[in-house]
Amino acid sequence: MMEKTDIRSLTYEELSEELGGMGLERYRAEQIFRWLHEKAAASFDEMTNLPRTLRQSLAERYEVVTLKAVDMRASALDGTRKYLFALADGNVIESVLMRYKFGNSVCISSQVGCRMGCRFCASTLDGLARDLRASEMLDQIYRIGRDIGERISHVVVMGSGEPLDNYDNLLRFLRMASDERGMNISQRNITVSTCGLVPQMRRLAGERLQITLALSLHASDDETRRELMPIAKRYPLGEVLDACRNYYEKTGRRMTFEYSLVRGINDTEKHADALARLLRDQHGHVNLIPVNPIRERDFARSDRKHIEAFKNCLEKRGINVTIRREMGSDIDGACGQLRRSYIREKEG
Ligand code: SAH
Repeated sequence: MMEKTDIRSLTYEELSEELGGMGLERYRAEQIFRWLHEKAAASFDEMTNLPRTLRQSLAERYEVVTLKAVDMRASALDGTRKYLFALADGNVIESVLMRYKFGNSVCISSQVGCRMGCRFCASTLDGLARDLRASEMLDQIYRIGRDIGERISHVVVMGSGEPLDNYDNLLRFLRMASDERGMNISQRNITVSTCGLVPQMRRLAGERLQITLALSLHASDDETRRELMPIAKRYPLGEVLDACRNYYEKTGRRMTFEYSLVRGINDTEKHADALARLLRDQHGHVNLIPVNPIRERDFARSDRKHIEAFKNCLEKRGINVTIRREMGSDIDGACGQLRRSYIREKEG
């Protein structure tokens, strides 16, 4: 049997062309696109304004990739929800809903696992299993939107995986998530976080998108950064920061610099001082993240006093800085831990 085409990964233009080839009237493409992306349909059966025979012939050619929630934990503190989704091939991924005053934000995964090897990160411990398709990235948002029955207005691509290591599917995802006929999420409300893949950052700057790019910096000198992030051996800070400046110049979008504070490794005033110097001619702000200790590694979180001192030091030197608010602290520890505990249980 021939493998069915993943219809949720097709852009509106591709879908129009495909359906035109099947001899369908023009308006059908928009109808079907809206079912898939605006109404988050899980099957052709839901598309009640299509003739039954059309639904049948679509189902013969196409599959509607839909994720299945296998676990969900809701925080009693702040409404944060962590979802564990099963993919068709049995892999599982994690997504998180965060409720803010400005709207609902979903943090999505871009790969199953990751091959970047950052030392403090749980998602990379078993390496990369595979890239996610555009449909699998989109459907994390669709399932969560349907679950809570509310609009999702913001997306951060900060879950498992390195989004720029799955570049083509990511671009497809970004264009489709912001399509007016779909979820219509403003590109300004979408943030993509990268560990610093320089060639892809430069390519992204030329895509005419208005998304925010976040760089996982985590260190103010190459030696410390190489200790925490193997990718820093390939791309030294000078090159990465050049790519950040280029992103701002090409898109007009200010950068976000993420900095996870690890006790004794990158959290002293000396580090803050060097960081301020490093970012002197950048446009953007620093987001400080108290590191989430994972059980496989012995990195410890900086204490509150150190974090505040680090922040003050940056502010005194004219750097915009925020401390990431911790959400859903009652439902799990570090990012990716829900997935890991699920896999551990299954494997016994
Ligand atoms: N691969 C991308 C996006 C996924 S990680 C990237 O590297 O940016 C999203 C952010 O969480 C990154 O800044 C990452 O370095 C950080 N992160 C991962 N594990 C963490 C942990 N245990 N504690 C604090 N931050 C962590």
